[in-house]
Amino acid sequence: MDYEQFADKKCRELMQIQERFMEQLSISSYQHWYYDAELALLRLYNDDIDQLYLKYIPIGTFSLTSETWMWSWFNDHSFEPNKNSTLDVMEFGLENDYPKLTAGTFSGDEFDCWEFTAISLATLGGIGVYRAPSEKLQSYLLITAVLDENSREVIHFNQAKVKCKIHGRSRPAFVCQHLNLEYPKGFEEAFETYKGMELGEDDDFQAWCDECEKVRIRNNGWSEYAEEFAKIKLVCEYCYFELKSFNCR
Ligand SMILES: [Zn+2]
Ligand SMILES: [Zn+2]
Repeated sequence: MDYEQFADKKCRELMQIQERFMEQLSISSYQHWYYDAELALLRLYNDDIDQLYLKYIPIGTFSLTSETWMWSWFNDHSFEPNKNSTLDVMEFGLENDYPKLTAGTFSGDEFDCWEFTAISLATLGGIGVYRAPSEKLQSYLLITAVLDENSREVIHFNQAKVKCKIHGRSRPAFVCQHLNLEYPKGFEEAFETYKGMELGEDDDFQAWCDECEKVRIRNNGWSEYAEEFAKIKLVCEYCYFELKSFNCR
């Protein structure tokens, strides 16, 4: 079978599966989406109660500016731990001599994207697909399961994320009670940080003011007294870096 015939057949299979998926889970009733790449978890939601958690495999992305497709196994900016599952599709392409399945990135159109997604679903299995749209980049996600709200991944997702009224969801960060955006008080950190940096599993963004640093040194470290003085509080990652640029001196 040549590639076009094969892709066409898989697209028609996808349409049937997708119709069921959309209907049974009321996918189009959700207005917002958010995904956590490290957990490969997609959350569709309207508010805190009306929501759906889905497990996914990232298939690839389509850049609307350059009109290029990129398979996620080829994408260094894709952080999903399961992205290399898509190498199975690549191997299938090698066996059948379908070059579109084996090249990492190339120019294409939206039909290509749906074909790749359909072929991935047939190769890897799944319950449907989701296209996460943003202004310049569309991410094609293969949905493999619906996650229970009490599942380990959803609990992890909700704990690891801080919800800030101004910035939305982000990673947690910690600062002493004295740091604010009124006047600069110094900014001591547990380690040197920069915006968007990756953190080790046991690392957190942590900062305190000059006064706290004096107390900490007098107490030979974070004694009970020093901790009481600092009263470290939780803030969002973006608030942290706003505090950093304002308080650094
Ligand atoms: Zn302080
Ligand atoms: Zn914030």
